Amino acid sequence: VTFDELNLSTPLLNALNDAGYENPTPIQVKVFPVIMSGRDVVGIAQTGTGKTLSYLLPLLRMLPFSEQRHPRVLIVVPTRELVIQVVKELDMLTKYMTIRKLGVYGGTNIVTQKQKVYNGVDVLVATPGRLVDLSLSGILRLQSIQKLVIDEVDEMLNLGFRTQLINLIDALPPRRQNLMFSATLSEDVSNLINTFFSEPERIEV
Ligand code: AMP
Repeated sequence: VTFDELNLSTPLLNALNDAGYENPTPIQVKVFPVIMSGRDVVGIAQTGTGKTLSYLLPLLRMLPFSEQRHPRVLIVVPTRELVIQVVKELDMLTKYMTIRKLGVYGGTNIVTQKQKVYNGVDVLVATPGRLVDLSLSGILRLQSIQKLVIDEVDEMLNLGFRTQLINLIDALPPRRQNLMFSATLSEDVSNLINTFFSEPERIEV
């Protein structure tokens, strides 16, 4: 399977070509059509399989242009390092697209981040703690979120983010697509899925 066969847009294909990515990885091939169909997805995959692009590609393919200020795609990850990594891949993929991306995480000046949120964001990548702080401040509105990605959810639960994660999901609009990625499918992870997902398609590589 080639990227061409995935029905990607020309800007995405050109960006992948510039980055020297030749073919999609197995998880990218499996996940792409399911996310495009609008279903909830639970992906069981380790780091290194190309899991990040497996959700970024279809999400960017589907994201319509908008001038509204509030984010429509929310990607929650456990660590600052992962925020930076995901934003890097987003920057690479959106080289030829007009999409506003922002990564936020704790330990940095929240005033600067509030200003950036206020300026307008399409795709927000965040750690749970900073996300809650921004949301409580009233600057960040989550009512326009259409797509939720929770990446490395097992790691997030191990770090003790369970309550924050549940409060956060509860604050999102009910009509949305949920995507979750985890290296393992522990009981904790399964409980979270059963609470918030509707008939997810499970994809394993
Ligand atoms: P991940 O599993 O998402 O952490 O990705 C692991 C690494 O593989 C990252 O550096 C990606 O940029 C890279 N990668 C993802 N998809 C592809 C692909 N289709 N071809 C080549 N490299 C890729």
